[in-house]
Amino acid sequence: MHDYIAHASGADHQVRIFAATTKDLVEQARQYHHTLPVITAALGRLLTAGALMGSMMEGEDASLTLRINCSGPVKGMTVVAKTDGSVKGYAINPFVDLPLNAKGKLDVSGAIDLGVLSVVRDYGLKDPYVGETQIVSGEIAEDLAYFFANSEQTNSSVALGVLVDRDQSVKQAGGFILQLMPNTEERVIAKLEENIGALPPYTTMLEEGMTPEDIIRRVMEGLDTEFYDPIPAAFVCDCSEEKVEKVLLSISRDDLKEILDDGKPVEVACEFCGSKYEISHERLKSLCEAAGLQYS
Ligand SMILES: [Zn+2]
Repeated sequence: MHDYIAHASGADHQVRIFAATTKDLVEQARQYHHTLPVITAALGRLLTAGALMGSMMEGEDASLTLRINCSGPVKGMTVVAKTDGSVKGYAINPFVDLPLNAKGKLDVSGAIDLGVLSVVRDYGLKDPYVGETQIVSGEIAEDLAYFFANSEQTNSSVALGVLVDRDQSVKQAGGFILQLMPNTEERVIAKLEENIGALPPYTTMLEEGMTPEDIIRRVMEGLDTEFYDPIPAAFVCDCSEEKVEKVLLSISRDDLKEILDDGKPVEVACEFCGSKYEISHERLKSLCEAAGLQYS
């Protein structure tokens, strides 16, 4: 089963739910970034959230950025997603090694600790919408639910999970985001609370062979549910020499001058996928001149 996002609406469109299986894309991220298990889980949860939230947005050119800046040893993570299910991301420090938490689980909140979660929704028009919230739990799903409630005035339920195998590869990954329209009937809320309260952890359901559709049916049990076409999901990096050059020109002038004075080619690695680009001294010089930056 490849990665995809199932989605449905229910209870007469008062509820919408997106549920994903993201094992392949989280494994891809692990291989790109050589993440240790706790960061495989942390980044995997954020990537899954990104894929879900991106696919919930409208508009072909729309994109979503989730960023965590934090005091814990991971220091921060960035995930960028589009509406077509493509997502990419990285952790500032992928090499965090922490003991398991009191429940015997990977200590994601210990890797994150305190900080800020920001959500940027860019629809390709005017200025992007930027929302920000304090990290309340560091487990990511709770932080996103808090963000939806406080920053976007949307009641939601968020579940995210990554199960790391003994050989450190990704065994299961996925999650769901359920959102309620304003004025959702009490009986619908009560039913959902009952169903979600009885739900095993998300990766346990995947381990039992349940598909995202099965999980949606279980969450929506007792409520009418209408399914839409699933959306394939994948880790996709759209980096290119041109984009890398743009980033290079945006660094501080002192740093640029130093690189130019050095006279050597610059090697730049894409932070999302690790692809390496080499830009020659001559090329950089002409780029600076074209951008109106004078150094000599
Ligand atoms: Zn890349």
